[in-house]
Amino acid sequence: MIPATSFSGRKVALFGLGGSGIATARALIEGGAEVLAWDDNPDSAAKAEGQGIATADLRGADWAGFASFILSPGVPLTHPKPHWSVDLARAAGVEIIGDVELFVRERILKAPASPFIAITGTNGKSTTTALTAHILKAAGRDAQMGGNIGQAVMTLDPPAPARHYVIECSSYQIDLAPSINPSAGVLLNLTPDHLDRHGTMQHYASIKERLVAGSETAIVGVDDSFCARIADRLERAGKRVVRISKRLPLADGFFADGTSLMRAANGRHERVASLDGIGSLRGQHNAQNALAALAACLDAGLEPGEIQSGLGSFPGLAHRMEQVGRKGHVLFVNDSKATNADAAAPALSSFPRIYWIAGGLPKEGGIEPLRAFFPHVAKAYLIGEAAPAFAATLGEAVPYEIAGTLAAAVEHAAADAAKDAGSEAVVLLSPACASFDQFKNFERRGEAFRQAAQSIDGVEPIGGDV
Ligand code: ADP
Repeated sequence: MIPATSFSGRKVALFGLGGSGIATARALIEGGAEVLAWDDNPDSAAKAEGQGIATADLRGADWAGFASFILSPGVPLTHPKPHWSVDLARAAGVEIIGDVELFVRERILKAPASPFIAITGTNGKSTTTALTAHILKAAGRDAQMGGNIGQAVMTLDPPAPARHYVIECSSYQIDLAPSINPSAGVLLNLTPDHLDRHGTMQHYASIKERLVAGSETAIVGVDDSFCARIADRLERAGKRVVRISKRLPLADGFFADGTSLMRAANGRHERVASLDGIGSLRGQHNAQNALAALAACLDAGLEPGEIQSGLGSFPGLAHRMEQVGRKGHVLFVNDSKATNADAAAPALSSFPRIYWIAGGLPKEGGIEPLRAFFPHVAKAYLIGEAAPAFAATLGEAVPYEIAGTLAAAVEHAAADAAKDAGSEAVVLLSPACASFDQFKNFERRGEAFRQAAQSIDGVEPIGGDV
């Protein structure tokens, strides 16, 4: 745990007592603060009380006495409308911050020169964070990973000069971290997402921009117009900007040429690493993630050879284009995290011969946005409530069957893929749907797929859960 000493001897209010809220309250108490915490859910408040955290309905509190208000990132700060606790803090003129801000302040107090890589973007945050931490660890560095992935940031080990932090930041966390100042900040990409919580695209983009604007080195994916403009703006403001592109040969920065990761300086190009044969990093989207990890690790002082070796041993993240088994030329890929059409697109674009398992609880727009990838699909196996609608979209374009359940879909897809004459046939679960009609969550759906695939006669399992 990281004791949050910046509020030692002072009173703070805290709202939101889920897992990370409780961890944050304990870090503050450990650091010497007097914490008064609350949650709209009485069970959460009772649980915190049971762990020695003082709780009280903050509507009745004396806000003038608080040095700060610590808010959980899941609680609305601005949209659709500020939570009542936010209104009370604002009325009393109390600053509103989150756990990442507490971490930032603690690092500055205890080990300001420790490498701090913060990662954000609309897509690929978790993959890039896990990959960066993996490369650093494989090179023998002390790397702590957390934030919006895995462990809450305040449960990591305390700052020390040679300790690296690799922190995934959601927009909500950035919004609550006014002094975020990573040594290397990564902004991967920006597409409309979570606009219900951010109002407009401009507002959403401006929050994400703050992470790179506060960093010593700003690593920015310039393949979308929002990020390209942000890179230009930061450069004009005198910041050190490292551009990355998954497709453009840049004059300066890092870009992908097929599976080669290239460094460009003054218009001259040199290959620094390769993704050739790395199953966990297939696809153009993963080239973007790998380029960001490469730039961040070079910034932290790693040698290209160390980075190549870390890329090669990256196991991948569960449920994101995760290779779970192989039988001859048939590869089984679990992309259960793809809960809408946009998220399914990278997997569908990454493989040329797909036996596609899709369906579940449908989202607006269905699979129409994926039409460009239909030529990659040898056959579709439709499950769950979305099956009839997806069948209607596929129409004459793609052969399909309504398999109904995931178990039946895996069995039929595996049998058909075995007969495929191509060099690689992929049985892909990339549902483009939520899972709740048939499973508790996307993780359970992915585990069911893995189990079904691995129990087929002759399938050799690949990897495990990471
Ligand atoms: P996040 O943490 O931002 O949600 P993940 O790394 O968990 O992202 O990846 C989730 C899904 O998003 C992946 O299964 C893949 O389909 C897609 N994805 C991953 N990286 C990228 C990227 N760089 N650009 C676009 N889509 C991506």
